[in-house]
Amino acid sequence: MFEKSGIGMTNNFSANNIQTSLPKSMKAMVMDVAGKPLVSKTLPIPLPAADQVLIKIIACGVCRTDLHIMDSELPDPKLPLIPGHEIIGTVVQTGSGAANFKTGDLVGVPWVGYTCGYCKYCLREQENLCENALFTGYTIDGGYAEYTVAFQKYCFHLSPQYGSPSSAPLLCAGLIGYRSYKMIQPHAKQLGFYGFGAAAHILIQIALHQGKEIYAFTRDGDIGAQAFATGLGATWAGDSGVTPPSKLDAAIIFAPVGDLVTKALKDIDKGCSVICAGIHMSDIPSFPYQLLWEERLVRSVANLTRKDGDDFFDLASEIQLKTETRLFPLQEANEALAALRKGEIHGAAVLVM
Ligand SMILES: [Zn+2]
Ligand SMILES: [Zn+2]
Repeated sequence: MFEKSGIGMTNNFSANNIQTSLPKSMKAMVMDVAGKPLVSKTLPIPLPAADQVLIKIIACGVCRTDLHIMDSELPDPKLPLIPGHEIIGTVVQTGSGAANFKTGDLVGVPWVGYTCGYCKYCLREQENLCENALFTGYTIDGGYAEYTVAFQKYCFHLSPQYGSPSSAPLLCAGLIGYRSYKMIQPHAKQLGFYGFGAAAHILIQIALHQGKEIYAFTRDGDIGAQAFATGLGATWAGDSGVTPPSKLDAAIIFAPVGDLVTKALKDIDKGCSVICAGIHMSDIPSFPYQLLWEERLVRSVANLTRKDGDDFFDLASEIQLKTETRLFPLQEANEALAALRKGEIHGAAVLVM
């Protein structure tokens, strides 16, 4: 259960696209230092730069990456930091050069918040690897707040069907899951998902739509997650240490557990891939070359490109993707993060402003 915040908004727009009735301050959940709970603060509403928009946030998803940042598993965050990189909101003000958007537009903001456009990676269509990238809710402020600014280059126009909090997880769990899925070989039919959380519960809908079979691996004994997976159409679900009933054509690892890489290599067939979808993982244990032999592949997936986003939202509209979410009020961000850490969330946790 949650309550809406009491900030009053009107539709009073001035001629230069600035909402005159914006409040002066906003509530935000802030990480002052890593390793400590987030602190509720009242902060000035940020001003958009020329190529940015100001967004009134509807909801922001809670991602495992937020835990990695808070646990110092990702280095050098902006401090103090407003976390959160699965933002759904409405544009309430546009910078002088942010001509792609107007007030009232529904937008989504993902993990990648900025890329330079001129480094060697940007120039060869690998902007997901940009040397000068900025990351939402990590190296720039994110969505655990009532308002945020975002570079227009990395705001996605969303159709009205995505205006509810349940759409927030599409912005990372959906997008990164989709990029991981694009890395499997075209012939792959039987897919293993290792960790059945926010990303897997979205991706299974795409995979089933495209005729794949899903084998879901969960924490040992997590009957609830296994039932969740089979309820969504998984062919099989079981503990991560168990050998699946048939050889897999691809494995996508969502859980941040390095041991799963060697386990997945044992589960896949010759010439198939293990895709590591997470941004952080515990060490991968050494393993005999025999596991990699016969042209098995192991690769990671990093960040996303704007094309991933465009392709994903096209597909999402075609399939009518659904998410299972547990909603928390913004002020309960710490509780949401704790529930995610304990594996208590089936689907995705979302903060609602
Ligand atoms: Zn994420
Ligand atoms: Zn770049």
